[in-house]
Amino acid sequence: MSRSILISGASIAGPTLASWLSRAGWAVTVVERFDHVREQGQNIDVRGVGRQVIRRMGLEDAVRAAHTGETGTDFVDEHGRAIAAFAGGTDDTSGGTAELEILRGQFAKILHAHSKDAEYVFGDQITALHDDGAGVDVEFRQGSPRRFDAVVLAEGLRSRSRALVMPDARIDELGLYNAFLAISRTGDDTDRWRVLPCGRGRLLSLRPDNLGTIQASLSFTSDVRGLDRLGHDDVAAVLRATFADVGWAAPRVLAELDNGSLYFEDIGQAKLAEWSRGRVALLGDAAYCASPVSGMGTTLALAGAYVLAGELAGHDDPRDAFARYEQVLRPLVTKAQQLPPGAPQIAHPRSRLQLAAFRTAVRVGSSPLLGRVSGLAGRFMTPPAEAITLPEYPIPAPA
Ligand SMILES: Cc1cc2nc3c(=O)[nH]c(=O)nc-3n(C[C@H](O)[C@H](O)[C@H](O)COP(=O)(O)OP(=O)(O)OC[C@H]3O[C@@H](n4cnc5c(N)ncnc54)[C@H](O)[C@@H]3O)c2cc1C
Repeated sequence: MSRSILISGASIAGPTLASWLSRAGWAVTVVERFDHVREQGQNIDVRGVGRQVIRRMGLEDAVRAAHTGETGTDFVDEHGRAIAAFAGGTDDTSGGTAELEILRGQFAKILHAHSKDAEYVFGDQITALHDDGAGVDVEFRQGSPRRFDAVVLAEGLRSRSRALVMPDARIDELGLYNAFLAISRTGDDTDRWRVLPCGRGRLLSLRPDNLGTIQASLSFTSDVRGLDRLGHDDVAAVLRATFADVGWAAPRVLAELDNGSLYFEDIGQAKLAEWSRGRVALLGDAAYCASPVSGMGTTLALAGAYVLAGELAGHDDPRDAFARYEQVLRPLVTKAQQLPPGAPQIAHPRSRLQLAAFRTAVRVGSSPLLGRVSGLAGRFMTPPAEAITLPEYPIPAPA
């Protein structure tokens, strides 16, 4: 009889695990809180071992075909003039703009389509988990209770079900808010990621996409927590007040805050002492979020899903598989969570002096010679996405 698993969360990590485990013969159910695959989010990078997972799934061409079109990164001044330019990546891992870069929503849809052998339940969520050692009885907000051999929570950094098994789990807050939205593209826009450090802890950036729109982001440092729990109108009011005196593209971004695409998050990292309790495991951002600042969130989710699937397929007891998954993946996670010194505050300068120092640093980093000698370009632009060797697992590759 096939073994059964419930995966909670249908973004990146959940569907990747679902795809591999279905292929390994498991009966897979995925539950997602929203009533659809969420489309929000901006450019995410698929690097190093994450890219290897995509390759092993036979999805590299599909992801490449959905490339955002971004060619590299420019830091700009308050008039939008480039003061430092970085080339995009040309291999599996390097570059502020990764060679394999895709809108998060499009990637989630590709992974969902690729894992259709799993049963998907949208618009529901777990309310209780009872692990009796031989299986897990799960209660849902809408659906009837069900029993599974194992449960995996892939619900992102702010996972709620995590508290059912690890009430002691704490998030390391980075003191940074990030707002993402799509805005209309104009004739002045380019295919570069254009970044304006605005001073007073604020950053504005514009990125091209493959939809004919521009992906804007507004980020700011703050000691105040909880703004992400405000409603849309209050979040928009905070952003309007925070970026009111910023020039360049700020007025046109603020003018589109109500266009329905806004996604606002409080950036943090999950640094948990363990990633499973009994027959329930955590996966992706729910277990080891490294934050968008790391450029590694998606790569960790993909590598984690692949390793977890391989270990589950190879062990009779999921608890043994969970222990091995953690052992294989920890070194990669530990490296990914080590952000550049002073990040994210250093990229969000507050005073004029800090702003000037930051501009000098990106100018130096963008110089072919000085960037290499100083190590600045590599430190900021190349995450440690190849820090482990992915094991080979005997799960049949997709047709
Ligand atoms: C809407 C959205 C936009 C994002 N935008 C960006 C971006 O622009 N840049 C970036 O670097 N990263 C972004 N991320 C984060 C990025 O997707 C992750 O860092 C990374 O890909 C790891 O993915 P994950 O699958 O572990 O978690 P996530 O991508 O966070 O996905 C978690 C999934 O679980 C679902 N979920 C949450 N709670 C429950 C629950 N109780 N029951 C059932 N389902 C639940 C969520 O709706 C979501 O679909 C975004 C995430 C989301 C959800």
